[in-house]
Amino acid sequence: MSPGIEFNAHIADIPIYPAAATYEFEGELVKLASNETPFAPHPQVLEAIESGLRNLHRYPDPAKSALRKRLSERTGVPAGRIAVGNGSCELLLASADAMLEPGAEVVYAWPSFSIYPHMAAMSGARAVTVPLNESGEHDLEAMAREVTMATRIVIVCNPNNPSATALPPDVIDAFVAGLPRRVAVILDEAYVEFSTLQDPDDSLDLLERHPNLVILRTFSKVYGLCGLRVGYSLGDERFRNAVDQVRQPFSVNALAQLAATEALNHVDEIERRIEQTVIERVYVESRLAERGLDTTDSQANFSWVSIGERDEDEVVNGLAERGVIVRAGKALGEQGRFRVTYGTRAENDRFFAALDELL
Ligand code: PMP
Repeated sequence: MSPGIEFNAHIADIPIYPAAATYEFEGELVKLASNETPFAPHPQVLEAIESGLRNLHRYPDPAKSALRKRLSERTGVPAGRIAVGNGSCELLLASADAMLEPGAEVVYAWPSFSIYPHMAAMSGARAVTVPLNESGEHDLEAMAREVTMATRIVIVCNPNNPSATALPPDVIDAFVAGLPRRVAVILDEAYVEFSTLQDPDDSLDLLERHPNLVILRTFSKVYGLCGLRVGYSLGDERFRNAVDQVRQPFSVNALAQLAATEALNHVDEIERRIEQTVIERVYVESRLAERGLDTTDSQANFSWVSIGERDEDEVVNGLAERGVIVRAGKALGEQGRFRVTYGTRAENDRFFAALDELL
């Protein structure tokens, strides 16, 4: 009998993305597993989406011109240096397609964002992972030591998912300055708006000094548009051209482009959401501390909680049985922890009520 259809050599190496578990629960689930925002999109963003519905028989703009123009106005980075993706995930995978191959290397910290391992696996490159330090921060010195002639990409996730810690821009600046310019440094800033160590605009100055720096941002977190999938990169024009070359032209759908363009008009609302998230961060972290549960220093919209000697499955499944979904540490690269996203105050209180029943 024929063994069936054949796949390329890399397919067996590509990990399965650890999707949040879904659970049977009678009643409303509190979803704190995916670092989403609890706030619905702005009403005018919803209007922009509705306005696009009647034109869905037309292909989206492959150049994403309106959105790239607005992003250029907001960031001061020329539109030619801005790539827009189907979520920033698409740009990460496209950068692997464009820059990695067997014999090449990509360096990143671990635990970090669970898509990074796909980049080496899909391209046949080697992944070089550098453990976070004891505070859950990137060990940039150790990462710099891992850069070799074969290194094409170094990724810095700032703030880091899942450890929630961040480094200030001057530290990143010095790190990038010490690396060869042929190495692309992808600074993944999916959560940068939540960091109190910097203003998001501070990182833009780094682009001026480092032609090999690529900043990656997303509309999935503070802008609340993860369901539509839009992210973007700011960097060398050659980087944009390369990631455009390896992708299909229409990967960012028309409604997503309209929504993201409109979302950039509501910065005040974004500021309010950031403030609200920081308030919940203080609330959640202090209540975890009262219960003797250690966390790393969060600069994001989630906490990385150490559960000590307790059984991780018992805690995570126990919360799920009570309708509260968090992400198990072992699915994210470190046992003995879980990651909990901040929800509304009511959701966070349900999390603590469930936790108190368990502990
Ligand atoms: N980077 C990091 C660090 C993330 O945590 C995420 C989302 N979980 C992303 C990138 C990707 O986000 P998206 O593809 O939705 O833009």
